[in-house]
Amino acid sequence: MSADRTPLVAGNWKMNKTPQEARAWGAFFRDEISTLPADVEVAVCPPFPALEATCDALAGTNVWVGAQAVHENASGAHTGEVSAAMIAGSGARGVIVGHSERRAAGETDVQVAARVRAGLDAGLFVILCCGESLQQREAGQTNAHVTAQVNAALSGIDRSVITHLAIAYEPIWAIGTGKTATPEMAQETCAQVRAAAAAHVDGGALRVLYGGSVSPGNAADLMAQPDIDGALVGGASLDPSDFAAIVRGASAGG
Ligand code: PEP
Repeated sequence: MSADRTPLVAGNWKMNKTPQEARAWGAFFRDEISTLPADVEVAVCPPFPALEATCDALAGTNVWVGAQAVHENASGAHTGEVSAAMIAGSGARGVIVGHSERRAAGETDVQVAARVRAGLDAGLFVILCCGESLQQREAGQTNAHVTAQVNAALSGIDRSVITHLAIAYEPIWAIGTGKTATPEMAQETCAQVRAAAAAHVDGGALRVLYGGSVSPGNAADLMAQPDIDGALVGGASLDPSDFAAIVRGASAGG
């Protein structure tokens, strides 16, 4: 991390936690908040039905709540989808766009670009995800792939969006597998993501997060790397103690 950028640690609960379970998580995490470093921004992204409950449970704290996906249209015949205004109306302040699990389910680069814009237009903070498959890494295509994903998502975007944008580099082979990229490997690709994004926004101000089996045990080493400004945390964010430990790992004060 760099002293110029506030680290961001965001939890992605994926399809876990009912509204009741989200309230319980929030109540537990509230107790941890006073012990957390003030120099780290914290967010948590529950499934849609738990957005309001999580917002309620964390009301009055600095922790913000985000959704895990958004549709590009404002309304209409899109069964099962949710608009950016609906997310904002639930009290959430951000959204993850382009997670590899959504891309694997068919979300295209064109949709990712439209969804980034829909989130930003609604005033949401967007965490844009990118990352390569194991096959792409082994074929030496990692840098080209993440560069293409970043270019596709951000081409033509207004540079002012930097205040509401972070990019999470998440190697697909590391998500939910327990196989974390080494800090050096993650650093190299996060630096590439920053360089690619610098064609569209202020690269020096952009927060680039690492995601993929981040845990209390590896968080500090990953986030000590100069181009890693925080983490997008899946499995380990389900446990509020583990998530708090990861937030501590992101602090310059250790
Ligand atoms: C994720 O879902 O974005 C993620 C990184 O998951 P995990 O931490 O479980 O690998």
